[in-house]
Amino acid sequence: MVPRVVFGRGSFNQLNEIISPKRLNVHAPFIFLVDDVFKGKSWLTSRIPLSYNDNIIYISAKEEPKTSQVDVLVEQIILNSKESPSGIIGIGGGTVLDLAKAVSIMLNNEGETSDYQGWDLVKNPAVYHVGIPTISGTGAEVSRTTVLTGPEKKLGINSDFTPFDQVILDSELTKKVPKDQWFYTGMDCFIHCVESLNGTYLNAFSQSYGEKAFELCKELFLKNTISHTEAQEKLMMASWHGGMSIVYSQVGVAHAMSYGLSYLLGTKHGIGNCIVFDHLEEYYPEDVKLFKEMKQKHNIQLPTGLCANLDDEDFDVMINIAIGLEPLWENAIGKNWKKTITREKLKALYQKM
Ligand code: NAD
Ligand code: ZN
Repeated sequence: MVPRVVFGRGSFNQLNEIISPKRLNVHAPFIFLVDDVFKGKSWLTSRIPLSYNDNIIYISAKEEPKTSQVDVLVEQIILNSKESPSGIIGIGGGTVLDLAKAVSIMLNNEGETSDYQGWDLVKNPAVYHVGIPTISGTGAEVSRTTVLTGPEKKLGINSDFTPFDQVILDSELTKKVPKDQWFYTGMDCFIHCVESLNGTYLNAFSQSYGEKAFELCKELFLKNTISHTEAQEKLMMASWHGGMSIVYSQVGVAHAMSYGLSYLLGTKHGIGNCIVFDHLEEYYPEDVKLFKEMKQKHNIQLPTGLCANLDDEDFDVMINIAIGLEPLWENAIGKNWKKTITREKLKALYQKM
């Protein structure tokens, strides 16, 4: 679990106070990985406390993180600083938060990032790392993984060294998120809850977090009862609880299939999950109904025809990725999932998207 959390509107201003005691010496900088959507936005960047050789690296979130990108960033940081950094601070959405986690691990572990995709392969503790989300939903701020696309697979580095040492939850940072993106990333949280709560891996720990996040999502996406500020704060907490829920259970059908879309077509996580979930009545009937209501209420048009021009080989690539995520299927369907989740079944579903 994340050992230290600060929550509150404006708490970003405490960043200096929080990280200063963690400075190892004047030659060991803090490196800020910042979503490039904030480049030139002084309301945020002027509040990043830079001293000595501290440095900001702007990161594009157009594409999801890759293992090769982590390798390049680590190399760049090592070449540019006299000593290993005092800390890595990620400021952005799931993309930047995952990069910050991965970079901090790879600064202290040998070899290539792709060597560590999997479960509990990391040997040495990561460099001190801080997560500051600027969009809510993925739960990346609280999770024990960093999802990366590698040469062979899209798979996380799941380890006890992955979670942030410190998270700052300042909902004010989410105020400029575009509406569609707010919906897609918010729905990632909703889908985490659905998949966790309806999964065979569920336990009381996950359930208590999942139920809370699920209630918050329904309040946020189906009702009009709260102010903007309150909604930003509550979505931040929904993301946190949804993330906590899957840490101790697993995701399900939507995530498995969305990973296939992402691997072949580069479809991003939030929107990809929405595209898939829209067709999953068979697996999550009540929740897909709720999802469709939410979509309508917020006037969201999901892209269609994604798979219209794909050939059999393309479908095979997506199906291989999806079907290879065995724990997700076992969670969603049960031990005998192979009886019903066939390649033909997945192809038929993909063809609807
Ligand atoms: P993102 O980080 O990809 O960002 C989406 C878009 O929103 C980008 O264009 C970004 O620039 C923009 N944005 C972010 N904050 C903004 C702000 N305050 N104002 C304006 N624009 C802003 O989105 P995401 O949905 O948070 O993250 C998706 C990534 O998270 C995927 O790579 C996925 O694999 C990963 N993920 C990780 C976990 C985990 O547990 N580690 C869980 C779920 C998803
Ligand atoms: Zn997700």
